[in-house]
Amino acid sequence: MSDLAIGILGGAGRMGRALVRAVTEAKSARVAGAVDAPGNPELGKDLGVLAGIDPLGIVLTDDPRALFAAADVVIDFTVPRATAENVRLAAETGTAIVIGTTGLDPEQRAAIAAAGQRTVVVQADNFSLGVNLTIALTRRLAEMLDDSFDIEIVEMHHRHKVDAPSGTALALGRAAAAGRGVDLDAVADRGRDGITGARKRGDIGFAVLRGGNVVGDHTVVFAADDERIELTHKAGDRSIFARGAARAALWTAGKAPGYYTMQDVLKL
Ligand code: NAD
Repeated sequence: MSDLAIGILGGAGRMGRALVRAVTEAKSARVAGAVDAPGNPELGKDLGVLAGIDPLGIVLTDDPRALFAAADVVIDFTVPRATAENVRLAAETGTAIVIGTTGLDPEQRAAIAAAGQRTVVVQADNFSLGVNLTIALTRRLAEMLDDSFDIEIVEMHHRHKVDAPSGTALALGRAAAAGRGVDLDAVADRGRDGITGARKRGDIGFAVLRGGNVVGDHTVVFAADDERIELTHKAGDRSIFARGAARAALWTAGKAPGYYTMQDVLKL
């Protein structure tokens, strides 16, 4: 069987470069090409050189349509507006799409889920194995503990991150809420400042730290009187997300159209 042709959207980005490395290293996969935004200063450069590996003989372009035509599956780690457009293209062309972009609004999330009726869509706010296990464990603990345990989610990321709380923190929050049988939007407490009053029973609180080059730390705290459980995951390098996304891209081969998550890919 020939290698799966994987296209990369956001090829000049931090994750885009990590994806070029991960797909090049993956068995049964090859880089079909990569695009970035019009005007990006890296356009026209060799993808391997941009990724810090040997030249691949393929250059970065700003033509997503040609990339969708050349690829069996595309991986998108860009910005919400670009992802919304890419999902439309995936539905139109039937190309499978793996989405890692975070900071999406409810309308964009709904459009992504709807594209699952036309093609294979895998979306995850975090593609690492460890985080996906932490999400599964969070849901399980929230099922087992009643609301005498207050749930708080703390995250820290590098100083360049533009959205908060992180997509992963929100995914952990959704898992905790699902474990409790409630909707996260109804119980999320996302910004405490000043005289906030006492904590409301059943709330799920978020706290956000930004600084340095931290790739991503997440802790879910279950705090009751006199005892506390903490689940912590620390990402050391963004290659874990890139390898997970490449694994998800390989997993799409031969799948029926549908909306899937990393929990499906990892069979959690
Ligand atoms: P980045 O800013 O380094 O890269 C984003 C790239 O997208 C940039 O090169 C930008 O020019 C490009 N882009 C913008 N508009 C585009 C368009 N129309 N077409 C093609 N490319 C376009 O950011 P990053 O650190 O690589 O992160 C990218 C996204 O992935 C963020 O939303 C981040 O939160 C998310 N992320 C998700 C995971 C996960 O596991 N799901 C892990 C890390 C980062």
